[in-house]
Amino acid sequence: MPCTVVVGAQWGDEGKGKIVDALAAGADIVARYQGGPNAGHSVIRDGRTLVLHVVPSGVLHPGKRCLIGNGVVVDLAALREEVSRLEDLGLELGGRIGISRAVHLILPYHRAVEASAERGPGAIGTTGRGIGFAYRDKAARVGLRLSDLEDPEWFTAAADRNLARLRREFPDVESLRTMSGAAVLRELEASAAWAKPLACDVSAEIAEALAAGRRVLLEGAQGTMLDLDHGTYPFVTSSAASAAGAPLGVGIGPRAVDRVIGVTKAYCTRVGNGPFPSEMPETEAARLREAGEEYGATTGRPRRCGWLDLEALRFAARVNGLDALIVTKLDVLDDFDEIKVAAGYERDGRAVTEFPSGARALEGCRPVWKTFQGWKSPTGAVRRWCDLPPAARSYLEWIERECRVPIESVSVGAGRECAVSRK
Ligand code: GDP
Repeated sequence: MPCTVVVGAQWGDEGKGKIVDALAAGADIVARYQGGPNAGHSVIRDGRTLVLHVVPSGVLHPGKRCLIGNGVVVDLAALREEVSRLEDLGLELGGRIGISRAVHLILPYHRAVEASAERGPGAIGTTGRGIGFAYRDKAARVGLRLSDLEDPEWFTAAADRNLARLRREFPDVESLRTMSGAAVLRELEASAAWAKPLACDVSAEIAEALAAGRRVLLEGAQGTMLDLDHGTYPFVTSSAASAAGAPLGVGIGPRAVDRVIGVTKAYCTRVGNGPFPSEMPETEAARLREAGEEYGATTGRPRRCGWLDLEALRFAARVNGLDALIVTKLDVLDDFDEIKVAAGYERDGRAVTEFPSGARALEGCRPVWKTFQGWKSPTGAVRRWCDLPPAARSYLEWIERECRVPIESVSVGAGRECAVSRK
């Protein structure tokens, strides 16, 4: 494993949290490389569900170093609260969390303008936490980073300039009128003091660890279909969620990564707006949503549900260069008489041979369905591949053949023990 990336192969919520938690047992460092507190990884610990937003999912393993890379955007107060909730649960975190000095900060004005933008036409369906606007400032070269807090005067002046610009752009956002750079800094004071000793050079630390033969796990948030470049633009997240974002988002060279694992559910979900070719009619979706508890970990929003989209999965295999797949939530399909899959797409009566780039091209695509027989037996207690129901095995083996990526393990329940290893 020296350096393994775990990436979502769908629209996020694939169950990466559980998989990273499992793989973290064999790692020394677990690092997040992009996204912000919109991500919500749920991990079960001693029968309790913990929701992690920015803290890497390796945190449940004592002694593992958990790093937040330069590609992440951080709301310091929210992160402090997240860490303190974990400490309240008895986790020993002293010296284990490190935040890159180069992370961009989500500031109160980002939240204010995002909430307003999401009320207007062209809403993306974001979680409204200011993440997209923090990334926008980063790309516009006016963002403020953790290291900028070391110079309060400079920070205040830069925040004032940003506020003046936003007031012109969003004259209707009332809270901007009275906000000042000094007030932004004051609001951050306590969490900035808390974060100061955690600030570090993630790039140097990971490079050093790899040189010393230690093992590093890079954890993605969201999924490939929400990647800023390769996802269903513009209904995407504001960062590079695919595997290529991993070395970029922690500051190592791409050749330092030696393995990429894609996580996919045995079916498909999506939150937010945008095309979703394999979406089910609501009557069917409601059944799957209940069986799979498909509600947002961060927002509680009901997720849109659909059958597995093989065209999208093949695309994810290509864009990420997947070495292996891990299929989660197979157990959720246990009671279905039939399992459908979008085996491909057609547009205007013609087969689509490559996954279309962007939302508008995808909207015209209709799935070509393939139907598998359901296995109609519980898989939650299965631990060996050979003990899976034959119909479930045929389904999985068809997926790996079509994607040309081996399935390395299958998850059949939320608990750590609910895993079917191929080995
Ligand atoms: P992430 O953001 O990709 O980590 O996804 P979520 O946090 O939304 O995780 C999916 C949810 O499914 C969590 O509540 C997990 O505990 C749960 N889960 C993960 N794997 C399985 C599985 O194999 N079966 C079932 N039934 N639940 C699972």
